[in-house]
Amino acid sequence: MIMSGRDGYSGRAVSCEPEPDRADSLIYIVKPRLVLHSGSRTVSKQTSSSPDHAPSYQTTLPAKIPSFDDRITAMGKKILAGVRVEGSSIISKQFWSQRFMEWSTQTPSLKRNLFRLVDVLPSLDSSEAISDHVLQYLGDEAEMIPGWAMWGLKNSGFVSRSVMAAAVTLGVRQMAAQFIAGETPAKALSILRKIRRSGFAFTVDLLGEYCVSEKEAESYLKRYLECFSVLGPRVATWPESSSLMPENPGDARATCVSVKLTALYSQVSSLNQKRSVSVLSDRLALLAHQAKTANAQLYVDAEDSANNEIIYKAFKQVFGSAEFRNERLVGCVVQAYSRHAEELVSDLLAFSKERGSPIAIRLVKGAYWDHETTVALQNGWRSPLFTHKCSADAQFEKISRFLLDNHQNLFPAFGSHNVRSLAHACVYAESRGIPSTNFELQMLYGMADPIARAFRHHDYLIRLYVPLGPLLPGMGYLVRRLLENTSNESFLRHTFFDDRDIDALLAAPSMDPEDE
Ligand SMILES: Cc1cc2nc3c(=O)[nH]c(=O)nc-3n(C[C@H](O)[C@H](O)[C@H](O)COP(=O)(O)OP(=O)(O)OC[C@H]3O[C@@H](n4cnc5c(N)ncnc54)[C@H](O)[C@@H]3O)c2cc1C
Repeated sequence: MIMSGRDGYSGRAVSCEPEPDRADSLIYIVKPRLVLHSGSRTVSKQTSSSPDHAPSYQTTLPAKIPSFDDRITAMGKKILAGVRVEGSSIISKQFWSQRFMEWSTQTPSLKRNLFRLVDVLPSLDSSEAISDHVLQYLGDEAEMIPGWAMWGLKNSGFVSRSVMAAAVTLGVRQMAAQFIAGETPAKALSILRKIRRSGFAFTVDLLGEYCVSEKEAESYLKRYLECFSVLGPRVATWPESSSLMPENPGDARATCVSVKLTALYSQVSSLNQKRSVSVLSDRLALLAHQAKTANAQLYVDAEDSANNEIIYKAFKQVFGSAEFRNERLVGCVVQAYSRHAEELVSDLLAFSKERGSPIAIRLVKGAYWDHETTVALQNGWRSPLFTHKCSADAQFEKISRFLLDNHQNLFPAFGSHNVRSLAHACVYAESRGIPSTNFELQMLYGMADPIARAFRHHDYLIRLYVPLGPLLPGMGYLVRRLLENTSNESFLRHTFFDDRDIDALLAAPSMDPEDE
């Protein structure tokens, strides 16, 4: 399918559609994998895959040769079997998080009000204000709050209100702490070290995006620079920083920072595109320089569609320049829910070839669906995003294959908690004889720890995306993660709260005709 073009994404449409039945036919030409366990890693060796040799293997293969999709299902089942044993601890063993998720998935009206409460909480500065808001937002449903906290609500005395307010604040702080590693890079060091010790790579991100003044933008820039200057030298001294998977170029540098460009300039706007690109390029170049000095990897995150065009232009301007064109595996992000994603990856492939050294692509589905869809509806526009989740899932798989087919130029980093989406990438790589040292998987810190552990157990390099920052900007991030977990279409919700049938969870997605 060829998408209609738009400024900045003018590359020719990508041809990552598999040849008819190609995936299934691969199993006839790929020879059995020799898997050697060496320490905690798996070394995979693939013998020649010449189709000429295929017949001799048919005799040694089991009578029923599993199809490509059967192999994805088999891998997904293995992963989920381990994961579901850990059960609902997917979100956290902490009381509040667990209750919050259960209430939110059971009662839609309660969900809406719980989110409002979480959002407003950091701005409330007295016990009365907190307990008033709890009563106002939760009304009769506040009965679901456990007895000791209800005692605070029902009694209007100072002590009881204080107890209740402290309990609610503590609960929200606990939830936030589960997704946010610390206020500053220095304060997050012990958690980051623990992450590496547990066998995961990390990328840190500073909470907050968009800024309303240049003073704020300056402060963000300073904090990002500090991220590199604090983490780079400190992380390098840890024994845990020795490579987790030596042959994997993704793990060449232990420090990695993900940057939200719109935090660096207060006037980013498509109406102000030229200046936006120019200012962001200058500021991104400062970060790129600091990253080089700190021997750190840098990713530029994707944001909403209106700003992404500016973001990709700044990325290409900086990393196509003479100073940074040899920086290997600088990364950017592609959102599979975008109708323009195929043209974008094609354009990024051309860029990577032109600069002469590979870039990393984190493939995600996209985090701005509700916002962008609502804005498009309000304005009577056609949304730039697909309208059906199955389309985002299908496009994620299609672009996964494209990235793996072009792994010499585009280092694939698959960012998802969806076991089907990740298993598809792993099985496709295996079927093409691409070792697991040529790509990585990425997940959000605190979102799906059992899934991360299960994939790591299968010898994949896993990078956790770890946000840092104070509680107030952290609320937006927390609400987004909670919304994702409780959304009707969320893979995590279906897996851990709705207990959906495993075959349904692992079924192949296909593009909805309305999105074609
Ligand atoms: C390491 C990491 C880094 C990330 N970085 C970024 C980033 O830079 N920029 C960014 O935007 N996001 C980023 N994300 C978030 C990501 O885009 C997803 O929101 C999140 O991972 C949920 O997708 P999933 O595959 O894990 O879960 P799933 O439950 O399989 O998918 C949920 C996703 O499907 C999509 N979706 C839901 N409903 C619809 C619908 N009706 N139509 C079309 N699509 C729909 C949405 O993207 C939603 O987030 C990152 C995620 C990870 C793991």
